[in-house]
Amino acid sequence: MNGRIGHISEIVSALRLAPVDFDAVFSGKDNLTPLTAVEMYLDEQLRLRAEKQNTLRRKRAGLPYEKTIEQFDFGFQRSVTKETMLRLSDMTWIEQAYNVCFLGPPGVGKTHLAAALTSKALEAGYAAVFTTLDSLVKDLKTEQVLAKSNRRMKYIRKAALITIDEVGFMPLNPQEANLFFGFISEMSEKTSVIVTSNKGFDEWIDFMGDAAITTAILDRLIHHCEIINMTGESYRLSHRKSITH
Ligand code: ADP
Ligand code: MG
Repeated sequence: MNGRIGHISEIVSALRLAPVDFDAVFSGKDNLTPLTAVEMYLDEQLRLRAEKQNTLRRKRAGLPYEKTIEQFDFGFQRSVTKETMLRLSDMTWIEQAYNVCFLGPPGVGKTHLAAALTSKALEAGYAAVFTTLDSLVKDLKTEQVLAKSNRRMKYIRKAALITIDEVGFMPLNPQEANLFFGFISEMSEKTSVIVTSNKGFDEWIDFMGDAAITTAILDRLIHHCEIINMTGESYRLSHRKSITH
């Protein structure tokens, strides 16, 4: 029996299939017809392949942390309801290339909710990526010259959901604002975008630098968009842990 399993393992690796845990799949199932056994083996191959793809997709997504909607305290943050977040968790809006914007001051949970939705999208099998505006602009600026940026931008452009965190943290120069505009217009209507920003839309001109570009970006972004205005205290500050108590 062991010699047989060894032989099968050799074939599996020559065919570049995933190693199947025979004990787990076939234990207690002694009287299988050959057809059923083959079917079960192939089903397990499919499951393992999907699992591998999910792991890879999650790794490539670049999430800053694993946070869920269940971990979010909606009693503390009252400007967004759990119902809204659960409704968005069904991900049907990705099919219509809708966008979601989380706006609000630091520490109110924008990145947490954006990451949680990105994670839900990955679970649902969508290619989703998470980036900051700073990192996106760096990749856009260097995609023609750096292989790493080029690869990253190719992956981002193919994604069904692109989460852009921390829009408004850093001022953009005119070249950067133009690249960002080009990117948003290229993606609009075909890809969903989640944006988080510590600035209200009326303040975007302050870091974009140019009124026409700001209007053009916002025009595309908020055409089909769920806008979630978050207010209140910083969760970080009110749940600050000190070293001594
Ligand atoms: P923002 O992006 O708005 O600056 P974050 O989403 O990064 O804030 O939140 C800061 C930290 O506080 C994170 O660790 C996040 O998980 C946590 N946090 C924020 N709001 C809540 C909340 N209502 N319930 C649970 N954790 C929260
Ligand atoms: Mg944040």
